Amino acid sequence: MNAIALPAPQLRPLDRLGRPLHDLRLSVIEACNFRCGYCMPADRVPGDYGFDAAGRLSFDEMETLVRGFARVGVRKLRITGGEPLLRRDLPALIARLARVPGIEDLALTTNGSLLARHARALREAGLRRLTVSLDALDPTRFRALSGDRGDVADVLAGLDAAQAAGFSSIKINCVVQRGLNDDQALPLAEHFRGSGHVLRFIEYMDVGTCNDWNRERVVPSAELRERIAARWPLVPLAPHYRGEVAERYRYADGAGEIGFVASVTAPFCGDCHRARVAADGTLYTCLFAAGGTPLRGLLGEGEAALAERVAALWSRRADRYSEVRGAERARNRRRVEMFLVGG
Ligand code: SAM
Ligand code: SF4
Ligand code: SF4
Repeated sequence: MNAIALPAPQLRPLDRLGRPLHDLRLSVIEACNFRCGYCMPADRVPGDYGFDAAGRLSFDEMETLVRGFARVGVRKLRITGGEPLLRRDLPALIARLARVPGIEDLALTTNGSLLARHARALREAGLRRLTVSLDALDPTRFRALSGDRGDVADVLAGLDAAQAAGFSSIKINCVVQRGLNDDQALPLAEHFRGSGHVLRFIEYMDVGTCNDWNRERVVPSAELRERIAARWPLVPLAPHYRGEVAERYRYADGAGEIGFVASVTAPFCGDCHRARVAADGTLYTCLFAAGGTPLRGLLGEGEAALAERVAALWSRRADRYSEVRGAERARNRRRVEMFLVGG
């Protein structure tokens, strides 16, 4: 009698707060060519920090990992870093991940400095959505915010190259810090109005242990939205899906969309369906996790074994850091660094 080939069993774990696993952020490298003060300030993470290229998952391992996560319900995958465009042959990895059954949405977050060089190859590899971080338009300010490493003209050239390469969605992320770049909000809005790109302002978060975060530096999204709406009236838009992190608006005059991510003032843990895997294969179930679980050793056993392990880990998850931020900070607990988990 012939054996009938059954489809791979699908696991759909819920965590302890009833949240399914839907999104995965995969960091492909922890190193970066910038030293943004809110992420890896140069005095804490110097140039010779000792990043370990051998410790990074291979492309084979990453594909197995993503296949395993797709089996437990992941449909959205975002590639991040460090700076992902520093990972050699990234388009070859993108091409493999774009073909993984179940992955419906593949995106990449980059600081944009090397995008002009790689946009076409990434698009040809099957990437359709890009998020480019950009905290200032003013060249001097941009350079300072990048830890004296970046040139805003490179990022703008990268955006032009991405548009020419035919990306269907290009988002611009700006992390706003009071007194450092909040005066850049209106120029950025003006620049991207009518461009077809969606600008999103992100509240400055207390991720990691390097950035000496303090609440006074956070510009609440509501305040920023009022500033922008006073110049260009805004109309709220319905979320695309439950759990969307950005509050979406459109310009009343038809100049497109703008968004606000109020991760500090209006936490969205209740709808957090996201896991993060660092470049060395460590799983983190929260951006503010104190520690993670290494998965690399399991990858040799294949995607089914990985899926079972991830399902078991996810079903134990109870993270909701942003909803309990005050109490948690008071205890001064350890937190994973942003450049390891990639935002
Ligand atoms: N290097 C890439 C980049 O900058 O786009 C990808 C990795 S970076 C860690 C991902 C995102 O996290 C960026 O948009 C960055 O601005 C954001 N980010 C880093 N530290 C942050 C913080 N303390 N608060 C809010 N966002 C932060
Ligand atoms: Fe690098 Fe991105 Fe972190 Fe800036 S935010 S230091 S570009 S990883
Ligand atoms: Fe998700 Fe943790 Fe952020 Fe809450 S604090 S939204 S659980 S990553």
